[in-house]
Amino acid sequence: MGKKAWIIATESRRLGGIVDAARGVSDSVSVAAVGSSDLAGEVASYGVDRVVSFVASDDVPVEALGPCVAEFVAADGADLVLSNDSGAARCILGAAAGALGAAVVGNAQALALDGDNVVADNLVANAKAIEAVAAPKMACIYTGPDADRAEGPAAAVECADVPSVEDRVVGFEEAAGTGLATASRVVGVGMGLAARDNLPLVDALVDAMGAEIACTLPCCDDMRWYPSERVLGSSHNTASPDLYIALGISGSPNHTSGFRDAKTAVAVNNDPDAEIFNCCKYGIVGDLFDVVPALTEAFK
Ligand SMILES: Cc1cc2nc3c(=O)[nH]c(=O)nc-3n(C[C@H](O)[C@H](O)[C@H](O)COP(=O)(O)OP(=O)(O)OC[C@H]3O[C@@H](n4cnc5c(N)ncnc54)[C@H](O)[C@@H]3O)c2cc1C
Repeated sequence: MGKKAWIIATESRRLGGIVDAARGVSDSVSVAAVGSSDLAGEVASYGVDRVVSFVASDDVPVEALGPCVAEFVAADGADLVLSNDSGAARCILGAAAGALGAAVVGNAQALALDGDNVVADNLVANAKAIEAVAAPKMACIYTGPDADRAEGPAAAVECADVPSVEDRVVGFEEAAGTGLATASRVVGVGMGLAARDNLPLVDALVDAMGAEIACTLPCCDDMRWYPSERVLGSSHNTASPDLYIALGISGSPNHTSGFRDAKTAVAVNNDPDAEIFNCCKYGIVGDLFDVVPALTEAFK
């Protein structure tokens, strides 16, 4: 027997693929549309069985509805919960995983059933390996193939009772402007830089180029070299500069999707087999500690 799947949608991005993946292992696919009532109307046309709309007032962040959504899907007997990789959806998915006592899979590419278990192919080790995770109850961030929305009648939209939420947005402050979104030149820093002491090497290149700095997720989360506003990739920011130079970056799709629209991308990596070379027009196979000073001189 298939599973009872719920999809947490805070936007419709990649919803076609997520519905497809859920359908393959589930008897029913429902969507919790969290945000505006327009969103609920839109997701109802994706060939799903049920849509429940969770609408909060404008001054309440979407993530604040996490406990309410989690309680709802758990009470409905969900055993599989899916979302895309947006920050808000991931946050609510985590609450649902807690309420269900479900295994969490962070980068699911495909789903299958094995007896009572859902089996997820989970992309790990910088997208170089896939591990199979099996559990009877699962919460997945699905990053596998996308698909067109299914043809068919739109599902009816139900409105959930949303309790008053204490969290309020009390004001907006512009994040210390990164200028990444509009920069014409961006230098991306990866773990190949090795140590905080080496950041000035990149600063010199950035100054010479008149560029903005970007980085990969571990340079922010693990090393604390840069704030999250500087992370490029699927779960963070995007940039579409004329020139992107990736320094010591392996080339995980989670990062490369962040500079997909760059006109020209150049990679510097000492591993000739690094995935990043498949995403860049020009590649320099070499030690960045030799290459970066030479580039800095050239740009000066
Ligand atoms: C759900 C999810 C969402 C994610 N979202 C993002 C995201 O938005 N953005 C993001 O960036 N990541 C994201 N990640 C993480 C991503 O999958 C990778 O782990 C990360 O991008 C790898 O960072 P890196 O390339 O800096 O490090 P590594 O993979 O460790 O690569 C370091 C590279 O440096 C090279 N190198 C080492 N020394 C030198 C040297 N001296 N000279 C030249 N080259 C050298 C190595 O050959 C290697 O290729 C996400 C992961 C998950 C699971």
